[in-house]
Amino acid sequence: MLNNKVAVVTGGASGIGFACAWELAEHGAAVAIIDRDANAGRRALQELNSHGRAVEFIEADVTLESDVKAANQQIVSALGGIHILVNNAGILRYGTVTSTSQESWDEVLTGNLKSAYLMSKFAIPEMIRCGGGAIVVVGSVQSFTAQRNSAAYVVSKHGLLGLTRSMALDYARHNIRVNCVCPGAIDTPMLRWAASLDRNPERVLDACVRSHALDRIGQPGEVARVVAFLVSESASFVTGSAIAVDGGLLVPSGGMAFQESGTGAPET
Ligand code: NDP
Repeated sequence: MLNNKVAVVTGGASGIGFACAWELAEHGAAVAIIDRDANAGRRALQELNSHGRAVEFIEADVTLESDVKAANQQIVSALGGIHILVNNAGILRYGTVTSTSQESWDEVLTGNLKSAYLMSKFAIPEMIRCGGGAIVVVGSVQSFTAQRNSAAYVVSKHGLLGLTRSMALDYARHNIRVNCVCPGAIDTPMLRWAASLDRNPERVLDACVRSHALDRIGQPGEVARVVAFLVSESASFVTGSAIAVDGGLLVPSGGMAFQESGTGAPET
C-alpha cells in the first residue's frame, strides 16, 4: 500500500514514533527515523532491520534548523525524496503558568511545536517535487482539552492543531494532505516517566485506565495504525482533520460525578 513511498518519522526511536516506523515499513514504505537519542535510534534500526524492514536512522534534534535541514538532505540523497512525514517527536513537562519557568515554556513550545514547523518547512518542498504527500501531526487529547498543571504542553498541542489546519489549506493545491492524530494515554516511556513523578505510579496508571471509556490505556500500535491509514490512499479525501485515538476519553461531558455509575440505569 505504501510501496515506493519514503516516510520520515520524528521521535521514531521510541514509543508511538517507533510503532509508526514499524507500521509504515510493514506497509512497504522506506522509512527514515529521526531521533536525538542515538542509542535508542540504533536499537530501533536494528530491530526493524532484523525483521526485514527498510529503515534508516538519523541522529538529529528536530528543534534545530541546521539539524533538520541536514537530516532532510540526507534522507533525500539516501532514499530519493520524501512523500510522508509523521511529526511525532515531543516532550512533556508539568507546570502552571506561574510555576513554569521561561526556559521550560520555551523548551516545550520549541520541542513540540517549532519542531513540527521546521520539519514541515524542509519536507514539504520535497513532497511538492515528488508530486504530493501526506503529513500526520501527533497532537493529543490536549489539542482539544486541558489538564491541570500542564500549561505549556496544552498550548503546544493546541498549536499543533492550528499548524495542521494551516498546512492543510496552504498545500492542498500541491496534493499534500495534513491531518492530526490525538491520542489518549498510550503505554510508552513518556507515560511511564510521567507516572513515575508520583509517589504512587500505579495509582496514576489506574486513574489513566479509568479515564478511558474502553477502561484501559492504549498501545503505540493502535495510534500507528491510524497514522498508516491517514497517509494512505484510503484517506485520499481526508485533510485538515483531527482524529482522536483515545479509547473514548473525550466522550463524557464531565462535571457530573454522581453520574459516574449511570444514575437511573437498571443494575447490570
Ligand atoms: P517517547 O518519549 O516514548 O518517545 C519520543 C521520542 O522522541 C524519544 O526518543 C525522544 O527522545 C524523541 N525526541 C523528543 N524530542 C526530540 C527532538 N527535539 N529531536 C529528536 N528527537 C526527539 O514519547 P511518546 O511515544 O509517548 O510520545 C510521542 C508523541 O505522542 C509526543 O508528541 C507526545 O506528546 C504524543 N502523545 C503521547 C501520549 C502518551 O500517552 N504517550 C498521549 C498523547 C500524545 P528523548 O527520549 O531524548 O526525549
